Amino acid sequence: MKLLVVGGAGYIGSHTVRQLRAAGHEVVVLDNLSSGHAQAVPPGVPLVQADLLDVDAVKETLKAHQFDAVIHFAALIEVGESMRAPARYYRNNVVGSLNLLQAIVETRKVPLVFSSTAAVYGTTDAVPIPEDAPLRPESVYGETKLMTERMIHAFHVAHGLPYTVLRYFNVCGAAPTADIGEAHPNKTHLIELAALTALGQREKMMIFGEDYPTPDGTCIRDYVHVQDLADAHVLAVEALHAGQHVAATYNVGLGRGFSVREVLDAVDAVTGTPLTRETAPRRAGDPPRLVADASRIVAELGFAPRFTDLRDIVQTAWDWHRTHPHGFQE
Ligand code: UDP
Repeated sequence: MKLLVVGGAGYIGSHTVRQLRAAGHEVVVLDNLSSGHAQAVPPGVPLVQADLLDVDAVKETLKAHQFDAVIHFAALIEVGESMRAPARYYRNNVVGSLNLLQAIVETRKVPLVFSSTAAVYGTTDAVPIPEDAPLRPESVYGETKLMTERMIHAFHVAHGLPYTVLRYFNVCGAAPTADIGEAHPNKTHLIELAALTALGQREKMMIFGEDYPTPDGTCIRDYVHVQDLADAHVLAVEALHAGQHVAATYNVGLGRGFSVREVLDAVDAVTGTPLTRETAPRRAGDPPRLVADASRIVAELGFAPRFTDLRDIVQTAWDWHRTHPHGFQE
């Protein structure tokens, strides 16, 4: 297949580009490089620097190639920032996605795989969370992802657009080759922050809440390795290309959770140096427990994650950060 990967210079996009090529597919990346890195795009993969808000540029790219499918990662992803700058999030994530949908149906109606998030569920009592749990996002970020899911479905109904939605749980880790990894301009993710703290770039780790109704009092999340997540995209796009599982939505997680303390213990074990920890107040909007019911993607697409051990996951993140302490600047 020949694939357009929108947002392919970002963290998850760049790992997916790599897994797509390993599976024998040809890739073109479209990215505005607002948070992605040209260095994360492998040599030989064309990089079109364009913004989804520029609908003509998107159409031109689609017209210039005979793509078989599009994978769409491009989005602003910070929950806190989305609450402070909603216009930016609705414009970039919703209008940008609308432009992409319009460009696809007006040029070449190929299948679309879309990056969504467990944030569409909000706080829920369901443990683990199935795909048909109530959708009650608690942030503008989650809202923009849910709106985009619904737009995509409307394009499927109106124009027959084939699609797959993947709702990610907590994505982490890095390619075992340690040459690409997480390098967001603003760091908020637990494992990345812990690795940078272990490198001495930060003084200590704050634990946001130790009074949750969980066994050790800290929040539980379903950590999925970025390379396993990338493989889920390969499975999804190949199924769509074969005309299977069209218009499906899948959780991507492992169906098991680790607490903040367990993650920090794994980081200590991998780095060999215990981090200084401090209890901090709960972070607004953090549900106590978010664990995927991942049975649908396992049954329908044959998702078979390889990184099940927390230490293995942390090891790949650590290898990336210690060899690239300043991300792609190094
Ligand atoms: N967390 C923490 N300290 C940090 C960063 C995160 O205690 O410095 C906690 C956070 O409150 C949540 C979990 O770690 O319970 C995972 O947070 P992250 O930001 O990595 O992912 P999210 O679950 O928000 O997508």
